Amino acid sequence: MRKMTKIIISAALATALSFSLIFSPAAVASSANDPVAEFVTRLYQTALSRQPDPAGLEYWVNRLKSGQISGAGAAYGFIFSEEMKNKNLTNDRYVEILYNTLLGRRSEPGGKIYWLNNLRSGMSKFNVFLGFAFSAEFSSLCAAYGIKRGDVDHLPSSAPANWPESTDRLIDPSKPMIALTFDDGPTNFTPQILDVLAAHDILATFFLQGNRIEKNKSTILRAFLEGHEIANHSWSHNDLTAMTASRASAEVKDTCDAITSITGVPPTSFRPPYGYTDSSVNRIAAELGLDVVMWTVNSQDYSIKDAAEIYDRTVARVSNGGIILMHDIQSVTVEAIKLLIPKLLEEGYQFVTVSELLLYR
Ligand SMILES: [Zn+2]
Repeated sequence: MRKMTKIIISAALATALSFSLIFSPAAVASSANDPVAEFVTRLYQTALSRQPDPAGLEYWVNRLKSGQISGAGAAYGFIFSEEMKNKNLTNDRYVEILYNTLLGRRSEPGGKIYWLNNLRSGMSKFNVFLGFAFSAEFSSLCAAYGIKRGDVDHLPSSAPANWPESTDRLIDPSKPMIALTFDDGPTNFTPQILDVLAAHDILATFFLQGNRIEKNKSTILRAFLEGHEIANHSWSHNDLTAMTASRASAEVKDTCDAITSITGVPPTSFRPPYGYTDSSVNRIAAELGLDVVMWTVNSQDYSIKDAAEIYDRTVARVSNGGIILMHDIQSVTVEAIKLLIPKLLEEGYQFVTVSELLLYR
């Protein structure tokens, strides 16, 4: 069993190395009163998307300082924690968290698809974890905090009992795909849209307006738990390019934080209001780990009052890899997607989230 694991690791390691982008120790230097505490704080932030509680922080710092566990052991403790299990992560999110937590960076498409394919073909989440934990990049990250990474024999030999394995659906990259996106919500129309999506068993992406999040928490949690992508559309829906950089940054960051407080997972996609962006707004997004996502088909559901007309206009413009812009703020959109979704399924489109689309197209 152990031998098998090692073979898988070496293949994984080769891949991890070929995509290597060494973690920069400079990122740590400024906060280094107690590097071990900083290391643990970082694990809370990247793996669990929250600040540490004092008891938890002390527990992990003591275990690391006493040599009871290594850096890899601490990472195992966070990745295979009850709190993580309760997040019920898709493979996509699981792999992204491993990149962030163990490599200190976002994924690159080639590497991420490699790991997703391994999970789909039956590799356990534990073995994928080993691929990251025993990479040169994680060694560098640990070293930056003065921590020994440790080796494989000091880790448990599997995930905890009954650890949930693959929860991903299959996407066929050779088939046409399309992303439905809903902006400016959530509103009272969002649950109706979720009902239509559920009836067809498809996923979409919701670009949330930050100042509508507090009143619609249960809708957001429902959308997230049903597998939809929860994305960022700024706080107040004003033109970010007309603001100071610090105000625009707060618009985006506050919305990220509000989403994370509900889903436990930071968003990775951002659409600026009206599609207005510039180099400053793009930089703000990049600093928050967000891809800037526009659209290829404007359904004009905000101005056209007739569902059949929205349907005709949209069907005439869709193509493989397209992103359809809609708004979950009015009933005509609910009626339009009841026409649109069956038609596009009939034409052979797979409905994907924008993150999935960016990965495969
Ligand atoms: Zn908008």
